Amino acid sequence: MSGLREFIGRLEEKGKLVRVKDEVSVRFEAAAIIKEFEREKAIYFEKIKESNFHVVAGLCGSRERLCMALNLASTDKLYEKILEALKNPTKPQIVSDGEVKEVLEKPNLEKFPILTHYEKEKPYITSAVVSAKSPDGKIENVSVHRFQVLGRDKLAIRIVPRHLYRLCRMAEEAGEKTLKIAVSIGVHPAVILAAASPAPFGLNEYWIANTLLNGKLKLTRCEKVDLNVPADAEIVFEGEIVLDELVEEGPLADLTQTYDAVRLQPVVRLLGVMRRENCVYHALLPAGFEHRIFMGLFREAKIWDSVRNVVPTVKAVRLTDGGCGWLHAVISIKKQLEGDGKNAILAAFAGHPSLKHVVVVDEDIDIENPFEVEWALATRFQGDKDMVVVKGVRGSTLDPSANQETGETTKVGFDATKSLSKPAEKFERVSIPENEKVKGLVRKLRESFG
Ligand code: MN
Repeated sequence: MSGLREFIGRLEEKGKLVRVKDEVSVRFEAAAIIKEFEREKAIYFEKIKESNFHVVAGLCGSRERLCMALNLASTDKLYEKILEALKNPTKPQIVSDGEVKEVLEKPNLEKFPILTHYEKEKPYITSAVVSAKSPDGKIENVSVHRFQVLGRDKLAIRIVPRHLYRLCRMAEEAGEKTLKIAVSIGVHPAVILAAASPAPFGLNEYWIANTLLNGKLKLTRCEKVDLNVPADAEIVFEGEIVLDELVEEGPLADLTQTYDAVRLQPVVRLLGVMRRENCVYHALLPAGFEHRIFMGLFREAKIWDSVRNVVPTVKAVRLTDGGCGWLHAVISIKKQLEGDGKNAILAAFAGHPSLKHVVVVDEDIDIENPFEVEWALATRFQGDKDMVVVKGVRGSTLDPSANQETGETTKVGFDATKSLSKPAEKFERVSIPENEKVKGLVRKLRESFG
């Protein structure tokens, strides 16, 4: 299984997809419904007011659904699975044809159900997987970007100074005016996850996706540009970044649930469209759960890996929802020596450079529960001894309280693990002995609530 459709079919089989048959507008209405349900279920819109195509959203709005996509029975081996793919990328098969070539047509963005999500936003494509090559053709890069619609065949692309940015500069140095890109929408979640992975420059993210898909990813070459795309992608826009044509891009909400700054960003001219006949458009709600999972999961795994090197008894890691799935982490460890908590803090900052605050707790704390984490801070933490403050470091430009030009920020680590110098029973949480009778009674009372 390597395509979006098979995954949609499996979600439906397992009762993890809700179909919306009523007509819904791409302007706010679809976004509101996605926001309501994506944590519980994927959402499939059958009737979009402004387009003949269907929309799917919230595919991986929960870790469980992401595990389903990766054929994992539980979340236990999730980090191992994705880190393994990062370490062992494998070459996908290239095929001459694919479902994506069922329809070849001239670009017309008006046909597509492109959502406007939030009050002050413009219409944006948010689930786009972009492939591009270096001028010598040796490096193929795949990354996720947002696109603002400017016209029937014109978009603005946001390019943060990472790999695609580097390819743009390489093209300029080679005397090029444009950089060809292929924009895939409606691909298997593993392809998006790989494209959002922290792979080093030069590593082809399609190869990571292929390992995640157990060698089943098939690529095909585009019609108008010399680039590869998943052969069963729903929609592919072939185009070029016009390197010297900049426009104001934004506003769009980012992970932080605040509007990202408006910046000058390059224009993209579309050259052609390849798509499946009844293509399904994948919408991704900015700052929603699916966005956080695709952006944050690899970082969470990297934090886990980094902490594991210094504190092998690390139990669990979460980039928390309140921390935008990006800026805050909670880590539980089985503390063995005084200092383990602080070592975990330093390793966490090394594992995810955008991390701003990290709380380290003992293994008895449920890191999914913010009340428990706060309880650990209330009863196991002393500000003068257990806090690590690092000033003037580079963090995330997404944080409105940081310097959003340079990313300069202050990072704080909270070691909320129990002090080993005090008797353990001082920190013991009270509990009420339970028995079967009480459990049965509780069940009965709950049922009587209806
Ligand atoms: Mn890359």
